[in-house]
Amino acid sequence: MIGCPLCAGALAFRLEGHGHVQLCCTVGHTFSPSDAYKAKEEELERTQWSVIVLLKHLQMLAAIMREHDDLERGMRPSLAEREIQIKQHIQSYERLIHDTKPAQSRPPHAEPPAGE
Ligand SMILES: [Zn+2]
Repeated sequence: MIGCPLCAGALAFRLEGHGHVQLCCTVGHTFSPSDAYKAKEEELERTQWSVIVLLKHLQMLAAIMREHDDLERGMRPSLAEREIQIKQHIQSYERLIHDTKPAQSRPPHAEPPAGE
């Protein structure tokens, strides 16, 4: 089941006249497949940025804990390892967002990209 981009409902597949497909949730949000696709791409990007924000919050808390020596005994080495890992994960997510190329519609007379 594909979740509705606008609520917690699930989208149901509905075949309309002339072979058109609609995706409808239980409260009535209705999408064409391409509109649902675009909404899901946007949701994915928002979620990825939320992960980066969460990682940065962990980074700030780790720095505060280190600076104010608010560490449980023996936690300092593993916190230092985790801070390195968090920094790498932030870079990975930023690269992931930067490198993501969602499918986009082209103007009707546009040339296809090389390789098609
Ligand atoms: Zn909905």
